[in-house]
Amino acid sequence: MKELRALPSPGPLPEEGGALFLWVRRGLPLTLAGAALAGAIYHGAGRGWWMLAGVGALAAAWPSFLRGEAFIRNRAAIMRQDSLWANALRPLARRLGLEDAWILSFCGYNNRRVRATFAGRRARRALILLPHCIQMARCKAGILDDLEACYDCGLCPVGDYMNAALLNRWEGRIFNRSHKAYRDAREYRPDLIVAVSCSDRLLKGLTRLPEIPSYVIPLTLPHGMCVDTDFSVPHLLAAMETLVDPRRSPGEVLPLRREGIA
Ligand code: SF4
Repeated sequence: MKELRALPSPGPLPEEGGALFLWVRRGLPLTLAGAALAGAIYHGAGRGWWMLAGVGALAAAWPSFLRGEAFIRNRAAIMRQDSLWANALRPLARRLGLEDAWILSFCGYNNRRVRATFAGRRARRALILLPHCIQMARCKAGILDDLEACYDCGLCPVGDYMNAALLNRWEGRIFNRSHKAYRDAREYRPDLIVAVSCSDRLLKGLTRLPEIPSYVIPLTLPHGMCVDTDFSVPHLLAAMETLVDPRRSPGEVLPLRREGIA
């Protein structure tokens, strides 16, 4: 058994974004509902159609107002609708040069709702999903099969993650194919996924697994896509401490390499 390093307290979870997505997701149908109402008032002919369009627009906006138990009960359906919005407007965001900002805003909006869901009752069966590209490309340690194969050399985030995961007894998977991650997640049946990935894969994951609440943390890509990527282990630790019931026994001390939360 390795001698484990403890990690310093990560502090509170950082504030989430999401304003851009919410503004569009709620604002667009409300604007359409207002326009339909005006149409019904000023164009007597076809008033029924205007009203129908207005009701449809209000129905589209309604899920964005659901909170608490109502949100939890209808979570999968709401996530499907939200993902539809995120995917449908992605090409437009790309044309405007805002693709990453749009996806990350959707992720932030999702994270806010996940945090609200687990504010009162923490998850008891959480699963962490990490991409293989966080391992330094030239490292030969076989971490896909055995996380403890990492030598904890400090050259990539795997070492810190390994120490935190073993000390806290987290359930986690490092994967090299998205479909394997989805399959593992469905088989494990977690009540919460904490996933780290690039913005494109985070959107795909939220779209493909609407039935499982997922808190998502974006990768940073200092060397481009899929090579020597990085993420904030303290951010992951803060998410686990905030949203998930601890599995380590009380009294066990936890020391981490100190770094800011990304
Ligand atoms: S911390 Fe070092 S040994 Fe561990 S996976 Fe990264 S590069 Fe390899």
